[in-house]
Parts: sequence; structure tokens; C-alpha cells
Amino acid sequence: MTDDSYRFHEYSGGCQCGSVRFHATQLHDNPHVCYCRMCQKAFGSLFAPLVAVRREHLSWTRGTPSVFHSSEHVNRGFCKDCGTPLFWEYLEGERVSLAIGAFDTPHLIPILYQLGKESRHPSIIDIEGAELLGTTEEEDADQVPGIRATNNQHPDHDTTGWVPRGTHV
Ligand SMILES: [Zn+2]
Ligand SMILES: [Zn+2]
Repeated sequence: MTDDSYRFHEYSGGCQCGSVRFHATQLHDNPHVCYCRMCQKAFGSLFAPLVAVRREHLSWTRGTPSVFHSSEHVNRGFCKDCGTPLFWEYLEGERVSLAIGAFDTPHLIPILYQLGKESRHPSIIDIEGAELLGTTEEEDADQVPGIRATNNQHPDHDTTGWVPRGTHV
């Protein structure tokens, strides 16, 4: 997409209850939905809509998000009061990926890409204008060494005696 004017706005947003608010002076890139099972679980949804913001362009203007270590190198932020998913971050990275649905003006941010296609729900056909990248979770992980070396997500089957891992408040 050649028109990246969506990036150069001030954006605000926050969780459903208003305990946690953020402000971004501009966006970085990569507005997408991710269909991977980690994002599905984290959002309780069939995909996660995310857009990257450089850390220096992001501030938390009210409250502090809680985080869950979904894997050793990844935090997923949310509001502990209402449960709204707010972000995904690679801890060693320069960017935070904010949940587009948590913005006050999500309609200003186009969805340009679709990731994690191997986990895309069969009833979801396409997102208009969004490029379905030919990558899988494994291929995506190759771009960030170690990002999926650990996984704190409960497996997709019932377990007995499961001890939650990676919990942070
Ligand atoms: Zn909240
Ligand atoms: Zn994902």
C-alpha cells in the first residue's frame, strides 16, 4: 500500500472500562490481523487486529496494563479490571503492537495484512484489501529467533493438574 497517511496521526485508545488509556503520536507500520492460535486465545476471538507503534511514540496515559508472558520473549498486555486485550510485544523489540479494536478511532487504520494463515478459521473467507501473506507461524518465528522457543499457552485439549505458567500482574 502506497498511502501510509494513516500512520501520521495522533491516536488515543484504551480498554473497555477506561482504567487503562494509551496515546500514540504516530503509528509505525504493519496493521494486520493475526489468525495464530496464540492470538486467538489471547483475544478470545478468531483473530487479533494489531498495529505496530515504536516505543518512543507510545505512552500510557492512565493506569498500567497487566501482562501475561505468553512465551519467554513475549508479553501480552490487558486490563486486569475488564479484561480488554491491549497489546502484544516482543520484549527485545523496539515496537509494541497495539490492539486496533482498542483505539478510539479504529476505522482510521486500514488492515493491510493477514498472518498465521494456517490457523485461519474456515468460516473466515477474507478481509477486503488485506494481503494474505504466505507465511505460517513457524515461518514468522524464523524472522525473530527464539520468539517461540517457549510457549506458556494451555494446549488445545483438556488437561488435569495444569499449572498456569508465565502469569504476571
Ligand atoms: Zn479496563
Ligand atoms: Zn498471532
